[in-house]
Amino acid sequence: MEAQTKNCQNCKKDFTIEPDDFTFYEKIKVPPPTLCSQCRYIRRLLDRNEWSLYRRKCDFTGENIVSIYRPDAPFPVYKQDIWKSDTWDPLSYGRDFDFSRPFFEQYDEMRRTIPHLALVAFDSVNSEYSNQSQYNKDCYMVSASGSSEKCMYGNWYQDNCYFSADCSILGKSEFCYECMNCWRCSSCRWCEDCFDCVSVSFSSDCHGCINCFGCVGMRNKQYCWFNEQLSKEEYEKRLNSFDGSRNAVAEMFRKKQELIQGLPRKYYHGTKIFSSTGDYIKNIENSRLNFNCNDNKDTAYMQDAGLTTDSLDITEVLTIERCYELQGVATATRCMVLRSSWVMTDCYYCDMSFSLSDCFGCFGLRQKQYCILNKAYAKEEYGFLKAKIIEHMKKTGEWGNYFPEKFSPFGYNESVAQIYFPLTKEEALKKGYTWYDRKEERNYKPTMETGAIPQRIADTPDSITEEVIQCVSQLTEEGKRLHEECTTAFRMTPLELGLYRKLGVPIPSKCFPCRRTDRFALRNPRKLWHRKCNCAGKTSVNTTYINRGSHFHGEARCPNEFDTSYAPDRKEIVYCETCYQQETV
Ligand SMILES: [Zn+2]
Ligand SMILES: [Zn+2]
Ligand SMILES: [Zn+2]
Ligand SMILES: [Zn+2]
Repeated sequence: MEAQTKNCQNCKKDFTIEPDDFTFYEKIKVPPPTLCSQCRYIRRLLDRNEWSLYRRKCDFTGENIVSIYRPDAPFPVYKQDIWKSDTWDPLSYGRDFDFSRPFFEQYDEMRRTIPHLALVAFDSVNSEYSNQSQYNKDCYMVSASGSSEKCMYGNWYQDNCYFSADCSILGKSEFCYECMNCWRCSSCRWCEDCFDCVSVSFSSDCHGCINCFGCVGMRNKQYCWFNEQLSKEEYEKRLNSFDGSRNAVAEMFRKKQELIQGLPRKYYHGTKIFSSTGDYIKNIENSRLNFNCNDNKDTAYMQDAGLTTDSLDITEVLTIERCYELQGVATATRCMVLRSSWVMTDCYYCDMSFSLSDCFGCFGLRQKQYCILNKAYAKEEYGFLKAKIIEHMKKTGEWGNYFPEKFSPFGYNESVAQIYFPLTKEEALKKGYTWYDRKEERNYKPTMETGAIPQRIADTPDSITEEVIQCVSQLTEEGKRLHEECTTAFRMTPLELGLYRKLGVPIPSKCFPCRRTDRFALRNPRKLWHRKCNCAGKTSVNTTYINRGSHFHGEARCPNEFDTSYAPDRKEIVYCETCYQQETV
């Protein structure tokens, strides 16, 4: 089959279905999609709420709980331990399939009657505000994180992260602050794409560095200051002259960004990719459009996925084989359209379910087999009915599609779609999405105005944890517009203050959602553009950079092309892997 161009039914833009995609659709017997890959991604994200938390009642115990579902959600919500107990029976909500009606309508009708799990979080200790997370201890306001301790305000803390705050994609690291895509780092501040670094600040793309400040693209260096090699004494002198005030931090941050602009960047973030495209990727083979993924093979249209093979359209998963259209799933084989489910085999259209095999259209089930719409059948009966429903769904045009947008329990602005593809309320409503305005007023009364926030951590008293601090974004109309999710004011915990003291960083002047928005703005978008390598030959390599000379293309322009998340109009110098490697040693 050749590549085919289709028009997306949602955004009305043309998109391409690749030959490999057709092979996959034939293999799992679904028709080719009618939406482009970005619209399909947004549809999955709409069904995922990581950050919009509410105080509400548990509908079983009446206790006050924290939940991803707003207080007026049209279904019951149970707190974690009740939901997981045997006090209620999800099979009691089972029903027959009605062949005179579409599947999704019946599924949604059933789902609305069944208790929902307050937060998608498991097996964590003292981490009440952690969502889409598991195996954490003493964590606060984190999402998509696991096996970490004392981590705060961020997402994707993985593999034993310890005592860190305001980070995104942090692995096996400790004492980090405002870091993004950093692995095996310790005591790092305002760094991105750094690996195996210790006591490094305001740096980007550094590997194996110790005691470096404001460095970009350095390998195994010590005592470097904005890419300049210093003696230990001189380095310490300069470090002491940095007073750690909020103004000094802003200045260093600006200087780092300036340095980045003048130096070549590799066209993607990551390592070890073979015949693959994407960004923030590691060990990826024969895969297209993988974003924040590792160890995937034969996949496409993937986001935040690890250890996945032979799959398409998968978001936030781990250990997946031959699946299609999943969101928030761990360990699944031969499944299609799953949400928030674990250990699933041969299942279709299931949500919030655990350890199922051969189930179809089920919600809230645990350790079951041969169920349809939460009703159990004998094996043969299940096979017969399943085949009949698939035929029915092919006629209604539902087969192969993820749960429709209109059945998402979240408004556009509550969902993760708002983080990667932000819209104003007007834009969202115009596109047919729903929007949720919080009913409870954010009537925090600041006890400390922005101007009174101490510049340096050394001048900050412990009593700061008793203050309600006004968020700086509230001071200007521009700030308010850019930070729609602003909570207007915020407090900090003693644990958090302890980290700021340890790392010598000033307390934040913005609330957590505003800090998150700022951090995410530094990341490249989850889109790719086709570009040429910027390396124009030996003579034109930026003079501030170490010119290693002898590129394979000599004096001529590099002929290499690639798909990159750096849009063509961006200022960065973007290099192919070969040219980039010759510049970085
Ligand atoms: Zn589209
Ligand atoms: Zn704010
Ligand atoms: Zn090149
Ligand atoms: Zn070159």
